Amino acid sequence: MRPSPEVDLDSSATTPVSERVFSAMTPWFRERYANPGSPSAAGERAKEAVGVARTSLSEFLGCEPREIVFTSGGTESNQTAIRSALRTRPERRTILVSAVEHSSILGLSSDLEREGVRMVTIPVGEDGRVDPSEVARLVDRETALVAVIWVNNETGTINPVREISGIAHEAGALFLTDAVAACGKVPVDLREVPADFLSLSAHKFYGPKGIGALFVRKGEDFRPLIPGSQERKRRGGTENVPGIVGLGEAALESREFLREGPARLALLRARLEAGVLGLGRGIRRNGSADESHRAPHIANLSFPGTPGEKILLSLGREGIAVSMGSACSSGSMEPSHVLLAMGLSREEAMSSLRFSLGRETESGDIDRTVAALARILTQDEQRRVS
Ligand code: PMP
Repeated sequence: MRPSPEVDLDSSATTPVSERVFSAMTPWFRERYANPGSPSAAGERAKEAVGVARTSLSEFLGCEPREIVFTSGGTESNQTAIRSALRTRPERRTILVSAVEHSSILGLSSDLEREGVRMVTIPVGEDGRVDPSEVARLVDRETALVAVIWVNNETGTINPVREISGIAHEAGALFLTDAVAACGKVPVDLREVPADFLSLSAHKFYGPKGIGALFVRKGEDFRPLIPGSQERKRRGGTENVPGIVGLGEAALESREFLREGPARLALLRARLEAGVLGLGRGIRRNGSADESHRAPHIANLSFPGTPGEKILLSLGREGIAVSMGSACSSGSMEPSHVLLAMGLSREEAMSSLRFSLGRETESGDIDRTVAALARILTQDEQRRVS
């Protein structure tokens, strides 16, 4: 089976399971299928495998194995952290979240409101970054939790999570960072960033879908979203052994990739941006211009006058996948909330595309994409004139 698409510049939506991860997972589906909760030798073996994966992931994050709770992915991890914070700090009825959080956080606002909890948004600058002084202005003794995404999944902008974490703690609030788009792309070290909660998802870094983790800082009071005996009573349900093993292996593989991979991706991204911006036509880059505030794999570009959807479909016909905003909200054809929060108009946001590079991206893919864009934009101009 040929992988589709031929050129995948949508790796922020998801990534394929790597060969190494796939091989590590395979025995746990059929040969070693025991329930880790079973008091048998086979059960013990499965339990041990879960423990090994937990250790691999903890080394990847710079935390302790017991600070990790395996979940079904980023969405569950984010919502677990929020629900736990609201239950352990019942006297505080506000949560502060950045305007550029993922929909798995922002989408909770109406439910929370009905429950008497206010979700206050922290604005971002034109570069899509959260300014810590804005957090300091908004946080108070009513705030149970502050949530700021580590790397934004639409623009690649890196937030000053370490500083924001400190500000949240000064006000007695907890701090959650969604590191789904950060893991495997930028160094994530919980010894440097004193977050209370961190969310991640395996399928964004060459692990399988439907498995992720929530880091819960040791000593922090915690209430499970799904009670049960597994995960030291922090997340009920029979462990997804193949998924957990896959996540552990993906963490090991990512540690290796982080040595040289990001620099290679940044070069490819620069090549893409130079090529596309070189097409003129008022094409603009969205997000921070400061390299130190950018993850290496994402370029978000506006094509004034041409609907992003049209470009996306044309690229798709040429075997090139890109996206408009996050995959979770595409299909709804609403402008990206992230770009709107950065001050783009609806029209500008609708004419923007995200290009996200992955480990398999090569310079030929970039050149092919730039050439295709040149053709598509020229054809669009000609159609408009005639
Ligand atoms: N946060 C971010 C930043 C994401 O990009 C995603 C996935 N689109 C999620 C959370 C949700 O993760 P999952 O797909 O594992 O539920």
